[in-house]
Amino acid sequence: MRYLPTHDPAVVDILERELERQRSGLEMIASENFVSLAVLEALGSVLTNKYSEGYPGNRYYGGNEFIDQAESLAIDRAQQLFGAEHVNVQPLSGAPANIAVYSALLQPGDTVLGMDLSHGGHLTHGHPVTWMAKLFNFVRYKTDPATGLIDYDQVRELAKAHRPKLILVGYSAYSREIDYGTFKTIADEVGALTMADIAHIAGLIAAKLMNNPVALFDVVTTTTHKTLRGPRGGMILCREQHAKAIDKAVFPGFQGGPHENNIAAKAVAFKEALEPSFKDYGREVMKNAKALEQAFRAGGITVCFKQTDNHLLLLDVTSVGLSGKQAQDLLDSVGITVNKNMIPDDQRKPMDPSGIRIGTPALTTRGFTEADMIAIGEMIVKVLRSPNNESVQHQARTLVKELTAAHPLYPGLAYS
Ligand SMILES: *Cc1c(COP(=O)(O)O)cnc(C)c1O
Repeated sequence: MRYLPTHDPAVVDILERELERQRSGLEMIASENFVSLAVLEALGSVLTNKYSEGYPGNRYYGGNEFIDQAESLAIDRAQQLFGAEHVNVQPLSGAPANIAVYSALLQPGDTVLGMDLSHGGHLTHGHPVTWMAKLFNFVRYKTDPATGLIDYDQVRELAKAHRPKLILVGYSAYSREIDYGTFKTIADEVGALTMADIAHIAGLIAAKLMNNPVALFDVVTTTTHKTLRGPRGGMILCREQHAKAIDKAVFPGFQGGPHENNIAAKAVAFKEALEPSFKDYGREVMKNAKALEQAFRAGGITVCFKQTDNHLLLLDVTSVGLSGKQAQDLLDSVGITVNKNMIPDDQRKPMDPSGIRIGTPALTTRGFTEADMIAIGEMIVKVLRSPNNESVQHQARTLVKELTAAHPLYPGLAYS
């Protein structure tokens, strides 16, 4: 980096420390990833200087001829990736994308049928702490403990009983494939609109490794920074019939000027996701999750929802006598980053729930293999099973050192 070291050493210090943290630890938070240096470069570009309220070809301010090209490129590539009729790449992140869709499709007081939050639903799907929960009436379906799958019969019963305006599909901690066709059938039976929030699995859908709801559903929202491996941001894909309402809801309904440096970085990430190597990446992500599953099962840790069909696992760590917070802290202390998470119908509190969520997208980007994952999974089991054993923790730290050295992150990048 050429300018910051003399301009603002305090910030450079922070960047250096964070870079070292990312390099030296095992990043296993399921929602995180490492963008390419090309994406980072686009994020740090002069496009951040421009106001471009409106949409390509129809802006409030002048001087947007090149900004229009950047945004159109992002839209074209997203359409290619997901087969969408209409795309809005302006949402600043996943949460604002969801709020924009609610405001486009719903009136205050309308009913939304979404997944119970302890079964993998997201905060923006009507958690009581959110403003959305005050505006709309959220009704909840769950997964079936016998199969680990969404209880589609219950979805149908609740849909018939509550006649929702919108049926919401898409989760943050659910590890199974999703049957969008059944949701669509149920929605049609009760005259509901359909929305899929594919924030977590967008990259796996783009790689054509998981079912794609775009052709079936009215609206699909996503983040761009999870498995899709782009800059932090959001996106809405929809049918042409909803295009006007969605665009108006994003701007001027809800947001101001779009972040065009971020949109250019989205375009770069979408180009990467269109390349054949991204499909290989997605395959590795899923194989790596399966390898972890195998290690956890062998170690006697309960895997929620029975198994993983995607990039993440939700583990019930009370099966080894720990709380989610204890497990998170313990793994943190040896250099493995995961997050504590509610498990289905969790009896414990959100700040110290029964589970941890663990995912493979970030480490797979670093080139971690199934053999690495088995070693990591076995070590996690060991650490969790003997929380007071210093020697085990030392072994774990050594493994983390070896593996991070074998798979360097951003080699050559330096901030000072
Ligand atoms: C991560 C996530 C979001 C929110 O994304 P932010 O970018 O953090 O606002 C929304 N929905 C689901 C299902 C998610 O997993």
